[in-house]
Amino acid sequence: RLAYVNGSFVPHAHAVIHIEDRGNQFSDAVYEVWGVIDGELTDFDGHLKRLDRSLSELRIRRPMTDKALASILFRMVEVNRIRNGLIYLQISRGTARRDHVFPTDTVPPSIMITAKSMSPEKAEARAQKGIAVITQKDIRWGRRDIKTVSLLPNALAKQAAKEAGAAECWMIDPDGFITEGSAANAWIVTKDGVLVTRPATNDILNGITRRIIFDLASREGLTFEERAFTRDEALAAREAFITSATSFLTPVVEIDGNPVGNGHPGSLSLQLRKSYVATAKERSRK
Ligand code: PLP
Repeated sequence: RLAYVNGSFVPHAHAVIHIEDRGNQFSDAVYEVWGVIDGELTDFDGHLKRLDRSLSELRIRRPMTDKALASILFRMVEVNRIRNGLIYLQISRGTARRDHVFPTDTVPPSIMITAKSMSPEKAEARAQKGIAVITQKDIRWGRRDIKTVSLLPNALAKQAAKEAGAAECWMIDPDGFITEGSAANAWIVTKDGVLVTRPATNDILNGITRRIIFDLASREGLTFEERAFTRDEALAAREAFITSATSFLTPVVEIDGNPVGNGHPGSLSLQLRKSYVATAKERSRK
């Protein structure tokens, strides 16, 4: 297994970044995750664009052109022989003696990329069964729209879910509305068959998969609404699901121990998951 670190492909076991990397000390770094389906990076341009946005918002320099970056990402899929899985990329503001203030412009950003294989069969089985989620207060910062590695609240939420026998934790804002999951966007389908997910403001990460689901829903003549929904509304929903680049669309069948709908994955959820996978090729770049 090979990783990419600051200009070189190196064995994963020996891939290191400096102790004074600002990603390590200040979470002063952004990341991006591409799903790989049948050997191809899914929604390639969407993720690259969001990476550019995350970097701009934090004024971290791009380490290279998008073209150069693309060729390294494709190479990572190849050399690690990833058929299905993910590519993880992280860019920090660089390595400098610890100081909250940004280092000078002469300090280059650091970049690291890893690859991981995942079993599509396992993921599919999980989706067909559906997952349980718990809910907890959202204790994250005010710029959740930027994909930063500041993920401690997300890790705590996911751990709480695991300890409760659930797969995800939906987080709740001070007004009682669900923001999103610890690593995925949150959706419900109302009794009237309307897909609902929270609008993309600073409160959530604007998922690339989330936007693809809008496209697919439109194509299939389904109605959707971008608005916040409460836990009570989710409990009364006909269906619920999560979306992310690595889980695609996974039905939620239980919220805080209560069944969603009839307690089985919803038909619209499964239909959209199928469309997502079926159209992955047309949304990929080799
Ligand atoms: N929300 C959070 C907090 C995430 O970490 C992720 C992805 O991992 C998402 C939403 C979904 O984003 P995407 O569909 O681009 O993977």
